[in-house]
Amino acid sequence: MRMVDLIARKRDAGELTTDEINSFIGDYTADRIPDYQAAALLMAIYLRGMSRRETVDLTLAMAHSGDTLDLHDVAPFIVDKHSSGGVGDKTSLVVLPLVAAAGVPVGKMSGRGLGSSGGTLDKMESFTGWSSALSLAQFKRQLSDIGLVLAGQTRDLAPADGKLYALRDVTATVASLPLIAASIMSKKLAAGADAIVLDVKTGSGAFMPTVEAAEELARVMVDIGEDAGRRVVALISDMNQPLGHAVGNALEVREAIDTLRGDGPADFREHCRVVAGYMALLAGRAATLEEAEALIAAVWTDGRGLAKFRELVVAQGGDGAQVDDPARLPQARYVEPIEATRSGYITAMDTAELGWVCVRCGGGRLVKSDRVNPAVGFLLPVKIGDYIEKGQPIGKIHADDDMTLQQAQRDIPAAITVGDEPVPPRPLFYATIGAGE
Ligand code: URA
Repeated sequence: MRMVDLIARKRDAGELTTDEINSFIGDYTADRIPDYQAAALLMAIYLRGMSRRETVDLTLAMAHSGDTLDLHDVAPFIVDKHSSGGVGDKTSLVVLPLVAAAGVPVGKMSGRGLGSSGGTLDKMESFTGWSSALSLAQFKRQLSDIGLVLAGQTRDLAPADGKLYALRDVTATVASLPLIAASIMSKKLAAGADAIVLDVKTGSGAFMPTVEAAEELARVMVDIGEDAGRRVVALISDMNQPLGHAVGNALEVREAIDTLRGDGPADFREHCRVVAGYMALLAGRAATLEEAEALIAAVWTDGRGLAKFRELVVAQGGDGAQVDDPARLPQARYVEPIEATRSGYITAMDTAELGWVCVRCGGGRLVKSDRVNPAVGFLLPVKIGDYIEKGQPIGKIHADDDMTLQQAQRDIPAAITVGDEPVPPRPLFYATIGAGE
């Protein structure tokens, strides 16, 4: 196989064979293909797309680029969830411990920030010492010991996604249906969960801007999961504004801890309630979604969810004292207000741009070698439909230098559209796909 031939065929809208896709993934994982050729192929796929058969082949090749876990010697039924990526999306930090505290083992492989969207691993690394680099033996031991594990791609687990993910992040090749489907489902298949809840985002901060595109992505992923014998449901959820108030790694961790304590923004709490409910339902812990949500509510109110989160932090080397006292998490040097630049109703937000503001403050990566600054980001407690007054403080920026602070103070209001006519608040969910629909 000559890599240049594959790039040229995809560039010209041709199809890659199963063998070619397997060779590409095998050779790239083994460092036999340079990043520049892999990046060219990713861009050709981004522009030309892939057939359903190519997407399935890519997913399976990536899932088998390392080991695939069979966890049944440790737990009879494991559940997992994954988001297609959004701004302020710290859902995993809340729902995983809630579901595990309700007695459902959760084994999850997460990712880092991708483009304008944040990543669970970057958020969790706000805890001093916390690590996602688990061996297969560690993964299994922790699942058996505390019923909850949160790993990253490693040399053993979905290594192809680990490499391609980092490359897509810095080559503007994230928002591609086949690449997202293969990235997410390869991790899910490799990590061995029996049931998977997919949180597929749509809107101005999502990689799928329309509900139709999100449904198409959801359908492909549900089919891949079901063909592999997994129970899968996809929830199409809104990302036309950040979820909750916090955007930025340590700020989001603090908001997740607040939420586990029973506070937290209303939209985020509701989102978590539904996602966690579906995870418990899919795991067979309840006959209806209402019963599953009641199970989750019980461990939420009595503090078992928060205690499980602390166990997760400590089990993977993190400092549990930062859960007890979130003020010990990394803090930015400057905390300054964001002011509204005109009066009226918030009618829309350029949510991807809001995500980029956080990246430019240092909260994400612009090149592969960038180190993420956990302390920076912003709190934006206003929502579409709210009325705001010119000059009113609508949020707070947390920055570590004067230049990014000033830039964010300009860029955040510019990403918020304000009009004279009231608009209704956005719904949280649009549709459910899979598991009986
Ligand atoms: N999450 C992933 O794991 N991969 C993507 O491509 C997008 C979101």
